[in-house]
Amino acid sequence: MKPQSSYGKLSKMPKTNAANPPLVVVGTVAIDKVETPFGKKERVFGGSASYFSYAASFFTPVALSAVVGKDFPEEYRKVLEERPINLDHLEVREGETFSWTGKYESDLNTAHTLETRLNVLLEFDPVLNFKTHPSFLFLANVDPEIQGKVLNQLEKPRLKFVACDTMNFWISNKREALLQTLARVDCLVINDGEARQLTGEPNLIRAAQKITDLGPDHVIIKKGEHGVLLHYEGQLCALPAYPLESVFDPTGAGDTFAGGVMGYLTQAGEVTFENMKRAIAYGTVLASHTVEDFGLEALRKIRMEDLEKRLDLFKKISRF
Ligand code: AMP
Repeated sequence: MKPQSSYGKLSKMPKTNAANPPLVVVGTVAIDKVETPFGKKERVFGGSASYFSYAASFFTPVALSAVVGKDFPEEYRKVLEERPINLDHLEVREGETFSWTGKYESDLNTAHTLETRLNVLLEFDPVLNFKTHPSFLFLANVDPEIQGKVLNQLEKPRLKFVACDTMNFWISNKREALLQTLARVDCLVINDGEARQLTGEPNLIRAAQKITDLGPDHVIIKKGEHGVLLHYEGQLCALPAYPLESVFDPTGAGDTFAGGVMGYLTQAGEVTFENMKRAIAYGTVLASHTVEDFGLEALRKIRMEDLEKRLDLFKKISRF
């Protein structure tokens, strides 16, 4: 199924406050400090929910639930408002916005966290209120206790499909809460290193099987420049990353990927293995744009046509 391209064209963009988006994301909206071999940048607009929603909005309107502090710049809010991203659940609290400081080595494959300042995230207690119950939910990288609170408010059978992400920080610090979240979701999107950390299993296929035993029947393992592995009921799909000559800043690649996957699935309306394969292809191509600049800058410059072009090339490159 070819996605409709209307949400990729700014001229045809529906109102940003489209009241009842079928897709909801809960995660972080952040001010990052990023260091790559190509340079350092402070106050980069980031966060798991920001990248996710911007990417998903190429396919569908999306509601973003997150918290920011009073220091959150208006210009960053405007970036999200460029797209059909509903911000009714973007809470502003007294205090400072969540901030992450990360550094990449020369291979650009692994992010080293230098500092995580939770700030207003410590008080985040999302209350979700939608006139029409959403059918797709993504619990982006955030405290698993918060992910659990969201699931208490939006749960099956009205939700068709729930996916979540996590990272080493939460696997180490909130393992019990994370296991409870995993027991309640359909899909986990996770990095290779974190899949190994979570399961204690070095082989990724076995790690995916172990994750399925924890709850999610779809497991998507992201392997950075080595692509992605999808595991569902004993079936596998492996896609390479989109080959790029220059990667500038990998921050947000995973969240952009997940936004593409969930956005595509929401638009398709049905989660079949075939749709899931196409979804991870779109996620891969979207992420390949994100890493070409800091923050959301590269994604802001592209349209659906650019995605389609890259997807066609991606198919040619990986076909044999
Ligand atoms: P990724 O897509 O995995 O590169 O995620 C990058 C984003 O994750 C950054 O913009 C950070 O603000 C955000 N982030 C970093 N650490 C955490 C954390 N512990 N919880 C939630 N979000 C985080």
